Amino acid sequence: MKRKLGLFSLLLSVLILVGCTKSLSQQSVLENAHQTNTITWGVKGDVSLFGLIDVRDGQQKGFDVDMARHLTKHILGPKGKATFVTVTSQSRTPLLKNGNVDAVVATMTITPERQKVLDFSKSYFDAGQSLLVPNNSSIKDAYHLNGHTVIGVVGANSVQNIKKASPKAKVIELQDYAQAMNALKSGQGEALTTDNGILYGLAVQNPGYKVVGGTFTKEPYGIAVNKNQKDFIEAVNKAIDQMQQNGEYNQLIKKWFGNVPGFNYKELYRK
Ligand code: GLU
Repeated sequence: MKRKLGLFSLLLSVLILVGCTKSLSQQSVLENAHQTNTITWGVKGDVSLFGLIDVRDGQQKGFDVDMARHLTKHILGPKGKATFVTVTSQSRTPLLKNGNVDAVVATMTITPERQKVLDFSKSYFDAGQSLLVPNNSSIKDAYHLNGHTVIGVVGANSVQNIKKASPKAKVIELQDYAQAMNALKSGQGEALTTDNGILYGLAVQNPGYKVVGGTFTKEPYGIAVNKNQKDFIEAVNKAIDQMQQNGEYNQLIKKWFGNVPGFNYKELYRK
């Protein structure tokens, strides 16, 4: 009898504990953000123009980082704080699932496969996949790469896309875009493939390389959030609309893409 009672009270306290302590990833992101007056965003640190760590001050800088700052003000008010955690193409989903970041703004395409485990805001940027090659390369597009070696990044959907376009291409996957660019420079592959905006950023940093082949996929970027955060997604969508209506969005497009040679930034304007 005594043992049974002991077991019963143990079970009861476990149940109470489970009921009270929601794991980080189950808590309401929006409620927490309001309570702490802070939103923690996952952004890239290896992608020029979108999210790149500036070695002079250690801060991430780029269009995605600015989007996150502006969205924070729209959601929490002018005193709202944005904090940043650096993610890679591979780490962004697990960091979201574990509740280490509230949302990810990191050149992330909305795909049906990702929507099985995450939710996305409406699309906030229209990218498309392309190729970066040395200026003297004869490679012209994504459909004639059979027998060639192409470099991509782990966790990027670009790797699957290129295998569909040229099934007999050899694809090697590096950890991030800095390593991928180094691999291209040292001749470990003949082309680097990912979204056009990222490649234009690399072309600006690395003279002697060009973006070729136009875009062969559509990559609409969304802000990724864990499942069951409907009110946060709604707040983000509303903030995106406000930024597009009041001109802030187009100002950010001009700020980051207005001076990139060969890139038609006006096509990115909204409204
Ligand atoms: N937009 C693509 C993706 O979401 C490629 C860019 C990236 O690696 O972040 O996978």
